This record gives sequence, C-alpha cells and structure tokens, in this order.
Amino acid sequence: MGANLFIALLTPALSLVFASAFFLLWTYRRHGHVMVLCLSYVAYAVGFLLQSFDLPIGVAPTKFLSNTLLLLAAVSLSTAAVVRHDMPSPAKLLSLLGIGGIAVLSWFLFVQPSLVGRIFAINFACGSICLVVVTALRSVSKKSIVDRVLIAVCSIASVDFFLRPLTAVWIVGESYDSYHASLYWLLTNFSMVLISVMLALSLITAIALDVVKELQAESHTDPLSGLLNRRGFEENSAECVKRSLGLSLPVSLVLADLDHFKSVNDTYGHAVGDAVIAAFAAHLRTSCGKDAIVGRIGGEEFAIVLPASDLMTARLFAEGLRASFMQHRIKGLPADAERITASFGVASRAANEDFESLMHRADQALYRAKNNGRDSVKLADQLPADADCFAAGYYGGHI
Ligand code: GH3
Ligand code: MG
Ligand code: MG
Repeated sequence: MGANLFIALLTPALSLVFASAFFLLWTYRRHGHVMVLCLSYVAYAVGFLLQSFDLPIGVAPTKFLSNTLLLLAAVSLSTAAVVRHDMPSPAKLLSLLGIGGIAVLSWFLFVQPSLVGRIFAINFACGSICLVVVTALRSVSKKSIVDRVLIAVCSIASVDFFLRPLTAVWIVGESYDSYHASLYWLLTNFSMVLISVMLALSLITAIALDVVKELQAESHTDPLSGLLNRRGFEENSAECVKRSLGLSLPVSLVLADLDHFKSVNDTYGHAVGDAVIAAFAAHLRTSCGKDAIVGRIGGEEFAIVLPASDLMTARLFAEGLRASFMQHRIKGLPADAERITASFGVASRAANEDFESLMHRADQALYRAKNNGRDSVKLADQLPADADCFAAGYYGGHI
C-alpha cells in the first residue's frame, strides 16, 4: 500500500471506529444527539474517502458529494456537541454556514472551476462552524474539564481551517495528481487525523461521563415521587450535615410519615395510594427551598434536611406542611373521603452531632407524634451536650 493511500484511508478508518464507539454509547441511553454523532462520523468517513477515490458518476459530482458529506458531518457533529448541554440548537445558523459553503464550492466546481477556490470555500465554512461551537460552549455556565478540552480542540480546528488553505497557493495547476502530492494535501491529512482523533476522544469522554452521571442520578432517585431515594438522601444529607459542622451553621431534619396509609391502600386501591405519595412529594417539592434536601426514604416516609435552619424554623416549616397538605385535593380520592394527614418529627443538629444521630432523634420525635394521635409535629429531645443552650426553654419544648 502506497504512503498516499495509507494516509488517505487513515482518517476514514479512524472515523468509522469512532462512529462505532458513539453507536455503542447510544445503545446505553438512546439519546438522539449521540446517534447524530455516530452518523456524523460515518458521513465524515465516506466524505473523506471520496476525496481520494472517484465514483463512476464523474469527478465533479464526486467532489460535490464528498464536500457536501464533509460539511453535513461538520454541521451535525457541531449541533450535537452543543445540544448535549441542553442549550438552544444552533442547527439553523450552522446549516446556513454549511449551505453557504456548498453554494460557493459548487460555483468553483461547476461554473468557474478552481481547486483553490473550492479549498477556501470548504475550509472557511468549516472554520466558521467551529467558531459557532466555540462561542456556544464558552457560554456554558458550569464547564467541566472535558468541556474546556472541547473548546480548545474546536478553537485549534478553527485556526487550522482558516490558515491551512493559505498553503493551497503551492498547488500547481488544477491537476489532481499535483493536488494529492501537494503540501496542502499532506497538511490536510495530517491535521484531519489529529483534529478528528482529538475531537472524537473528547466527545466520547464527554458522552461517557454524561451516561455515568445519569446512571448515578437514577440510582439516587425514586421513580414514583421523583425525589431522592433513601440512598441519595442519606449521601447528600450526611455531606450537608458535615458541611454545616465545618461552617458552624445550624441544620435541621424533618421526618414525615403519612397517617393510616395502609387503610388508604385498602379502601381505594394501590394506584390511589401511589397518587397520594406522588401528591405529597409534589407538595414537598413546591414547599421546600432549593437548598433543602428532600427524599422519600420509605414507602410513605419522607425526610427533609433544611440547611442553615434552626429548630424553630424547622418546626414552623413542618407545621406549615402539615396544615397545608390537609387542604390538598388528591386526584382519585372521592370528594367526601377523609383528608389525608401526616405526622412529623423535627430535630436540629447538636454540637458535633453526626447525621445518624440526628436521624435517630427525629425518628423518635416522629414516633411520639404517631403515639400522640398523629396529624401533629413533635420536636426531638435535645442532647445533654446542648443542655445549656436549651435550659432557658429557648426552643419552647414539644408542640
Ligand atoms: P401509621 O399512621 O402508623 O403510619 O400507619 P400506616 O398505615 O401509614 O403505616 P404502616 O406502616 O402500617 O403501612 C404503610 C403502608 O404503606 C403499607 C404499605 O403497603 C404501603 N406502601 C408502602 N410503599 C407503598 C407504595 O409505593 N405505594 C403504595 N400505594 N403503598 C405503599
Ligand atoms: Mg404511615
Ligand atoms: Mg411508615
């Protein structure tokens, strides 16, 4: 195999490997943008291959097809790289740049044939597409290391697309033999291998990390309520309690348990029971601030960690929840059905107390609320270490 042929096949071969990697990642989550990346790399492989091998349709139509595929790959790949961030799709602007590139290229292919003209058309279109991606990715608020690498790769690609055509002036005449032996063609192959490898590796890493993050979020989320599950709640809360210790800020915990829930299931059916759980969860979500950690930690048990909140604040919050949920109309429950109520246990972190101990005390308070007729809020006993702070009855005892 000649060196030229080897170089000409390298980029398409690598692109097909990357397309397979994106396809594999797509099978995990089936996100549209990952499939678009897969197809982009297939289009890129075919487009690049047609740069070196002519189809029986003729030289000019093959060049047209090849460059259209390359620009299509650039537009779709760039769109996918941006929408991955849930940002507005730049597809319209990018398509405009792609169509503009193809229009100018067609002019230099069919109307006033010029190899150098075509080289400038395709490269400037690709360079502009890269600039749009760089601008869009730079506006992402929380950029990961991979995002920064992507921005750097697209910036390098953009500079390459704008500067490399300058070497096209070394091309003598319009013969493709001299084209494929030119410095321009050598640089094109070299930079295309480098750029496509760097771009693909950073995109594959980014998508793989997205998949890991999604799986992690799912393993921490309860599907019925959309709240954190026990595992997610405990991990987040233990971290929050530890942080509040370091900052010497108060932190409180509210436990809630729906009253006589078994009889709701028995009377109206499991599906209505599920609707009640979902309604209570929705009520918690709208009532808790964005800093609160809210979880469904058991069948009809919920927990809320309130950062920077002392016992009094947490008690008022729990009272508010109790009173407002009682008024709630729940879909599926008959209008004359008894109102669903909940019992609450509230505890505030004592000095040096860890999350487990805080949970234990809140649970004891909830137990008392249940034993005292339910539909009420009870405060946890304070730890002896905090006796001084509470001796003056600052917290007012149990409700
Ligand atoms: P208490 O007032 O003492 O809390 O009584 P309770 O009936 O609410 O408590 P108990 O622990 O006796 O029953 C809880 C019920 O919650 C039993 C279980 O079938 C039901 N449950 C647990 N998870 C789910 C769920 O996901 N959906 C539905 N519909 N019911 C559930
Ligand atoms: Mg219950
Ligand atoms: Mg329970």
